Amino acid sequence: MYHFFVDENSILGDEIIITGSDYNHAVNVLRLKNGERIMVSDESGTDYYCTVGDPDGNELRVHIEEKSEENHELPARVVLYQSLPKSDKMELIIQKATELGVTDIVPVESRNCIMKLEPKKVASKIARWQSIAEAAAKQSKRSVIPAVHDPMTFVEAVKRAEEESSVRIIPYEDERGMTGMCEAIISFLPGSDIAVFVGPEGGYDKIEIRHAMNHGIKPVSLGKRILRAETAAISILSLIMIRLEIALENGLKEE
Ligand code: SAM
Repeated sequence: MYHFFVDENSILGDEIIITGSDYNHAVNVLRLKNGERIMVSDESGTDYYCTVGDPDGNELRVHIEEKSEENHELPARVVLYQSLPKSDKMELIIQKATELGVTDIVPVESRNCIMKLEPKKVASKIARWQSIAEAAAKQSKRSVIPAVHDPMTFVEAVKRAEEESSVRIIPYEDERGMTGMCEAIISFLPGSDIAVFVGPEGGYDKIEIRHAMNHGIKPVSLGKRILRAETAAISILSLIMIRLEIALENGLKEE
């Protein structure tokens, strides 16, 4: 079943109006037929099962058959602050992070990043990454498309995480022992707002880690092996996702 995402003002009573690039995709690419069923999600994460009507110029009206109460989103906001990895690894990380339920992805330019985004290419890069997030959200039946933000420096990212998130961790390759990780896992609860930092191939600089700790971001170990950046992102986000799903099912929530 094809899946579209609309903003809430496209929903008029028991109809949803599809316009713009989604109209073109539905009518000219997918050639959806009258009566065909599709899924539409609005920005609040509500899903609607709809039947397609007839296209009318530049809008396609679909009729809402059923509003789904089942929410496919994690019960907490999860923000991935990913230091820019080499080549197209960021695309893999964005795809997997989307499947694993993140709500925001922030590209971070930290000291040891090999990849540098040229200012004139940033907009097209972010647009590409956002389209990857949208495709992964559709595939994984997310109700919300994660937002891919403009790149920021490590210091800017730390400031944003401190202002926005109640739980803040930085998987650090030189962190020893699992105590920090154990404490962090306990804080992954429904209703929390979780910020996760993952470094680039070159890892984090000690000065960066000290700066993060001074702003309440807890270094944690992912074990004794050195994981690739994409493996580290997938590992920690999987852990957060599973812990949140279990906590939700057991009625646990952030105090
Ligand atoms: N250049 C570093 C080195 O050789 O020690 C490796 C950096 S690793 C490729 C990229 C990022 O993944 C790290 O900055 C960290 O965020 C995360 N990571 C990888 N292995 C980890 C581990 N065992 N514990 C915590 N974080 C890890």
